[in-house]
Amino acid sequence: MSEPDDQLRRLLERAAVIADLTQARSVLSWDENTYMPAGAAEARGQQMATLETVAHRMLTDPELIALVGDLEAAGFPDGSVEAATVRQARRAVDQATKVPVELVEALGKHVARARSVWAQARQQQSFAPFAPELERMVDLKRQEAAALGYQDHPFDALHDQFEPGSTAARVRSVFEPLREELVALVREIQDSGRTLDDAVLRQTFDEDAQRRFALDLATAFGYDTEHGRLDPTVHPFAMSMSKYDVRITTRYQRHYLNTALFGTLHETGHALYEQGIDDAYYRTPLEATASLGIHESQSRLWENVVGRSRGFWEGAYPWLQRAFPGAFDKVRLDTFYAAINRVEPSFIRVEADEVTYNLHVMVRFELEQALLGGELEVRDLPEAWNARYAEFLGVTPPNDAVGVLQDVHWSIGLFGYFPTYTLGNVMSLQLYEAAVAAEPSIPRDIREGRFSRLLGWLRENVHRHGSRYLPEELLRNATGSDLDAGPYLRYLKDKYQALYGLA
Ligand code: ZN
Repeated sequence: MSEPDDQLRRLLERAAVIADLTQARSVLSWDENTYMPAGAAEARGQQMATLETVAHRMLTDPELIALVGDLEAAGFPDGSVEAATVRQARRAVDQATKVPVELVEALGKHVARARSVWAQARQQQSFAPFAPELERMVDLKRQEAAALGYQDHPFDALHDQFEPGSTAARVRSVFEPLREELVALVREIQDSGRTLDDAVLRQTFDEDAQRRFALDLATAFGYDTEHGRLDPTVHPFAMSMSKYDVRITTRYQRHYLNTALFGTLHETGHALYEQGIDDAYYRTPLEATASLGIHESQSRLWENVVGRSRGFWEGAYPWLQRAFPGAFDKVRLDTFYAAINRVEPSFIRVEADEVTYNLHVMVRFELEQALLGGELEVRDLPEAWNARYAEFLGVTPPNDAVGVLQDVHWSIGLFGYFPTYTLGNVMSLQLYEAAVAAEPSIPRDIREGRFSRLLGWLRENVHRHGSRYLPEELLRNATGSDLDAGPYLRYLKDKYQALYGLA
């Protein structure tokens, strides 16, 4: 065995153990968020911290770091699996070593505190008590960005952790033209004087029936319940405990169908991605996804591009009528289709429709950059927030709870994360169009309740690659083009101009 091959073997041995530790930690975390009794919280926190500490110790072991350095020097060919493996190992090692231990500990402690103060402040509908905690958080995140390193803006260092290779400037170049068009589309919709009635979604729906129907759709899409399961939770998520066990969760509302239905389709999209990673990457640094943006492109594709399309419901509407006897017997397909696509500017991001959703994200993207860049003081944040909501969405939050305090992200130190939601939306259409160009029968398949050709294309061009490619590289290989909001914007305009009877 040549020297580099032997070194690679040793790297992979260590990576496999680290993967086991990380995945075991995911099992504990899944349980914590589903069935764990409340009294176990402290012990569970200890167990998870121990697994993390052991994994961190392995990642910061000087022998491993030397091994990664040697493998980089060995110069595996660009684009090879070996080179990608070494690149991902380097990313993991850098993330574990670049930020000083004292800062990691300070952040950990502050997250615990800031999160609980945030929850109280939100309950009191007042930003003031949270302001000093957020100030300290912004300061710590700026230190973290400095430790990680960046060229133009501290935002870049933090954003790169979720979207490798992307920067604030890159995001801005996509968001700014998109924003203008979206603001205009929202105005057009409002000026149309037409509102879509969603009363049919607000009947009483048996929870078991909701669960069965959502899971039926998920399995029809291709979700493999031999290697996954659906459970109830408060804040829905998909979680991978290896590519052989990818679980989804959802939340049921007895008097509103959308939450569980589209929430499940969304998490199914995430899960299909993780289940589709090449078996050969199991327990290696490539058994991961390319980025959060690519991840979100998969959830949005199944939730919205497929799940909120008229074509899909042409096939699935009779299933829905059977699943909820009586509820939809006298409801026309078009009424249902309009109800699930109602557009209404509102305060709350997670309840937003397809058209306004991205404007919520853009508000946060701008404010985060300004906070991290030092152009905006934390105490001026609520005012800046409300001003942007008025400008982008034409609404002004009546209090901070439904305004600047609505998301948990900043209280737990997630900065640089929000843009990945909109990047995902943008890429979902690029990928869908490429899939249809390669397999023109996909729209007809969807109308007829068959999804294997679409899933097959995604498996081949996205899922199986795991984290072998950087996100923009993966996108270019799959679609032949760079990040481009054009297809997404055309999709929104065509769909919503028809729904609202516009030009
Ligand atoms: Zn998602």
